Amino acid sequence: MEKRPFITLGQARDIIADVPTPFHLYDEAGIRARARQVNQAFSWNPGFREYFAVKATPNPTLLTILREEGCGVDTSSYTELVLSNACGFRGSDIMFSSNDTPALDMFEAARLGAFINLDDLTMVDFLEQVAEVPQSVFCRYNPGGVFELGNDIMDNPGDSKYGMSEDQMVEAFRRLKAAGAKRFGIHAFLASNTVSNDYYPALARQLFELAVRVSKAADVRIFAINLSGGVGVDYRPEQSANDIAAIGEGVHRVYDEVLVPAGMGDVAIFTEMGRFMLAPFGALVTTAIHEKHIYKEYIGVDACAANLMRPAMYGAYHHITVLGKEDAPADHVYDVTGGLCENNDKFAIDRHLPKIDMGDVLFIHDAGAHGFSMGYNYNGKLRSAEVLLCEDGSHRIIRRAETPRDYFATFDDGPFAASIEDALRESEAAYAGSRAAAWKPGE
Ligand SMILES: *Cc1c(COP(=O)(O)O)cnc(C)c1O
Repeated sequence: MEKRPFITLGQARDIIADVPTPFHLYDEAGIRARARQVNQAFSWNPGFREYFAVKATPNPTLLTILREEGCGVDTSSYTELVLSNACGFRGSDIMFSSNDTPALDMFEAARLGAFINLDDLTMVDFLEQVAEVPQSVFCRYNPGGVFELGNDIMDNPGDSKYGMSEDQMVEAFRRLKAAGAKRFGIHAFLASNTVSNDYYPALARQLFELAVRVSKAADVRIFAINLSGGVGVDYRPEQSANDIAAIGEGVHRVYDEVLVPAGMGDVAIFTEMGRFMLAPFGALVTTAIHEKHIYKEYIGVDACAANLMRPAMYGAYHHITVLGKEDAPADHVYDVTGGLCENNDKFAIDRHLPKIDMGDVLFIHDAGAHGFSMGYNYNGKLRSAEVLLCEDGSHRIIRRAETPRDYFATFDDGPFAASIEDALRESEAAYAGSRAAAWKPGE
């Protein structure tokens, strides 16, 4: 489907007057609408809950919007737990799906009364060593082998570090029951970024059949099945978007076919989507600041892979719109690059785009999940601001950009702190009022 930005050039200019590029921009109306579609699609299941995967977009304003729409959170680390607690998520609002878990993290999850999802049989002993075993516990499943949909291999669970085998799960449930647990849940994440309405239903069939077998073998009651994440988005214009209503109906059919006849028609369905919830409703907004022609045509922008790592790390496609040139012919071919000293710092390679002039504003689509959150500080690059486009069309900074002082903050008051501060002040005094400070691309 044709990809259209959720702002116009005029709106972008208004925001830029307030927040310099680059920044991540999120669309509140889109986020709320998406959460409602998801809740509607699974409304046939009274216990249904989406636990938004915090790692995708750990911003308290966005988490609060999702909480208002009825979502919980899926966490995997201490800081994600603290952030969730601070945003008002409590107890059963929180899933804790971690692996290789530190004691502090497990302790905090138990303290908050989160649904703890054990990644391995050895985690049963570990849980008992660091906390009280809660009433409700999940175990994470890994069937091994490959995950196929029709004739397509979607992913490779046999190579993945997550989860436990069926036998191990039966053993884990037995031990947890002996330790006082009463209600048991099953979780699995078997394929990532699936653009198919069949992934969740196929996963659900595996997990529902597993739940029937395991509940008998371990003599336990399964109260929830967590389909986790993996529902993808149409990053490329030629892809068609997942239809969450069809996905919900597909899971419903398998539920009626497998769980209901087994007397398990009270099992709650949980999901832990990150990408599907937010990716389309976030964009990286960046300005073209340099161009060069050598063996190819390059456009240099003021963002880099440190702001959005997916293209560099996975070769991932992110659609780019030159704002104000939405309908201009895409008759130029560019590599769109950031400034890292890494040749993989390219947001697009051989991309057909309209002619780009210096100062043009580029809207890099589908950056609302696994975008800002994967940011890093290589080459001393700083994390950008995050801005919310509110439902009423106004905008609000929901995280300021990092400054050089943030970058240096972890030297605390060590031997270099004072000289770093001196060097910063010296530089700032010289730059203020300089030609450089007044420079604008394309002018
Ligand atoms: C990353 C992750 C998710 C979210 O995955 P998406 O692809 O963003 O939907 C959910 N659950 C767990 C355990 C994860 O690690």
